[in-house]
Amino acid sequence: GPEIGFVALLICLCSGAFVLAYATLRKQLLLNAHKDNFISNMSHELKTPVATAKVAIEALAKFDGIEDPVKTRDYLQMAGWEIDRLETLVNNVLSNVQLEDGRLHMQYDRVDITSMTQQLLKNMQPLFREKHKHVMFDSDGKTAVVHGDKTHLQGLVYNIIDNALKYGGGNIHVGIHSDAVETKLTISDDGAGIPPAFSNKIFERFFRVPSGDVHDVKGYGLGLNYAKYVAEAHQGNIRQFNIPGGGAAFEITLPLNVAS
Ligand code: ADP
Repeated sequence: GPEIGFVALLICLCSGAFVLAYATLRKQLLLNAHKDNFISNMSHELKTPVATAKVAIEALAKFDGIEDPVKTRDYLQMAGWEIDRLETLVNNVLSNVQLEDGRLHMQYDRVDITSMTQQLLKNMQPLFREKHKHVMFDSDGKTAVVHGDKTHLQGLVYNIIDNALKYGGGNIHVGIHSDAVETKLTISDDGAGIPPAFSNKIFERFFRVPSGDVHDVKGYGLGLNYAKYVAEAHQGNIRQFNIPGGGAAFEITLPLNVAS
């Protein structure tokens, strides 16, 4: 039936994403001084959505979907979510590799920051569920269209949210507020925050806050460097401050596309 075609398509997508991820891993392996860490972290991050999508597809293949349309829809939705997540992850890895290579090209278009952010949060939903994180989103409802590169802007926001997942507690807040000339995207968490002495240093390549035994989180110190690069490529900026109570907040400011 049509399910089989769909399943075949999903399997193709999965293996395509995996080949892409593998090529990226190899490249990163050659470039990165922290290669062992990178491989073990990334392979976990990439394996989980692939495994979950595979389970869903195998379950679908085992029964005739027409018998149970609800189950069919649930499995397809699950596989779809995981593939979205994989796409987000692969884009992120590729961007970091390209930036290291010094060849990050922006492709400018009209980007609606609100729907872009909502799409990203949807793609990250399986990750939030798995890590038992609660993400709250609010926006002032204004249209916030910028002249920008959607993939890299999404990558920027992805890195900040990913850090909130790594270094924060259970709650993340994402807010979008605009005026006539610019839009501000704020992402805050309920973790330990960042000592103010390091609030600028964290954007430097390979810099990680010396934490002793405060947090044992793996990383390379590349994500925020990429985030800053992307914000500045859009004539915007990114800054960090701590919120009352201690969590870290990141504020990304982007000029609005006033011409259109
Ligand atoms: P990575 O997370 O891979 O180390 P990043 O460039 O994304 O690299 O972040 C640099 C450093 O900034 C991190 O190592 C961490 O010490 C600190 N940091 C980033 N985001 C947060 C956050 N939300 N809360 C606390 N510390 C953070």
